[in-house]
Amino acid sequence: MWGFIIFTITVYIHTDPSVTVFRKFLQIRTDHPNPDYEGSTTFLLEKAKEYGIEAEVYRGTGSPIVIMKIEGQDPTLPCVCLNSHVDVVPAVVDCWKVDPFSAFKDEKGDIYSRGTQDMKCVAIQFLEVARLIKQRAEKPKRNLILTFVPDEEIGGTGKGMELFVEHERFRQLNIGLCIDEGLASPNDTFTVFYGERAPWWVHVTAVGNVGHGSRFIEGTAVEKLMRTVNKMLQFRDDQFNILHKGHSECGKKLGDVTTLNLTVLKAGLPENGGNAYNYNVIPAQAEAGFDIRIPPTVNLQEFLEQIKAWTAEEGLSFTFANYTDRNEMTHLNQDNKWWSCFQDSCKQIGITIVPEIFPAATDSRFIRNKGIPAFGFSPINNTPILLHDHNEFLNEKTFIKGIDIYMNIIPNLLNL
Ligand SMILES: [Zn+2]
Repeated sequence: MWGFIIFTITVYIHTDPSVTVFRKFLQIRTDHPNPDYEGSTTFLLEKAKEYGIEAEVYRGTGSPIVIMKIEGQDPTLPCVCLNSHVDVVPAVVDCWKVDPFSAFKDEKGDIYSRGTQDMKCVAIQFLEVARLIKQRAEKPKRNLILTFVPDEEIGGTGKGMELFVEHERFRQLNIGLCIDEGLASPNDTFTVFYGERAPWWVHVTAVGNVGHGSRFIEGTAVEKLMRTVNKMLQFRDDQFNILHKGHSECGKKLGDVTTLNLTVLKAGLPENGGNAYNYNVIPAQAEAGFDIRIPPTVNLQEFLEQIKAWTAEEGLSFTFANYTDRNEMTHLNQDNKWWSCFQDSCKQIGITIVPEIFPAATDSRFIRNKGIPAFGFSPINNTPILLHDHNEFLNEKTFIKGIDIYMNIIPNLLNL
């Protein structure tokens, strides 16, 4: 008799249906450059049907966006939206110990696949939360909306969220709060992101005097460029010191400082269009490109003036390969009822959350720039941060526990 009970429990643990859904979703090849969005759409629609959740496919941006809805008691109230991107970054197959699209589960319950952390876990956790809320006898007060969007991994700029927020269909959703992905936490705590750094890619071009490499030519393009590069790298040093050498009580995180990296450097006159260079010719032009990430606490207009000052010398100019003039954050004060509710819900289940600025970029920035509060929260702790890395994995118990954590937060937000 006891043996039978234990056996039954074991089988149950190993076949938790939500884990099976998660693994099937991981096996759909939504990796760039050719993500199978039709495959993921079909899968999500089938699940919605099975769970009795209303669903539609919006194609106004040019790629399918799946929208699910559970109507609340008062559909006129601003809703809670759970947003996930369905695409994943490519995987270098040779660097993985298993096929990165097999969703292989080892004996410890670790599931290996591209997207286990970023962010197919959260997408399916949201779906399972919707299923559980749908099963409840009482409707929540507000509408629950789930959106599954494409192209986040190519910057959200293609047919994804950046475009969707400009559409009437998005406005009609009447979103009061959005919850989107966060990051895994390697320790006991959980991180909640309330803002992101604005990515600016700056391309500086210098033009100057030319001549023979044996002479002291003045005002060359390279000299001018180097002066600017040095000023910008000095700024980088200063920011590095704020992050690493400040007082420990300041507790600065990567998301709190501006990072600046010289990622493009170009000069020299190619010889007959080949790979060799004319070493004895001073080139007329030199170029440098920078990846700069600016926290929402920095005034972007003032930072633009700073770049103008760095490139003020005659013969210098700059363009943006990527630019935004808005970078809103969600304010975490007592006036923010969503935040109070989120915090209280976490306190009740005894989990510690640490608010932070996201060091990179997610779709949340487009939502916040529309004036809608957004939290980035992936309920993953005690797990190494492996997004975009080889052998990305998530333990099935952490995945299941995440559904439970969301179920202790999201219904409270819906009933606010
Ligand atoms: Zn992501």
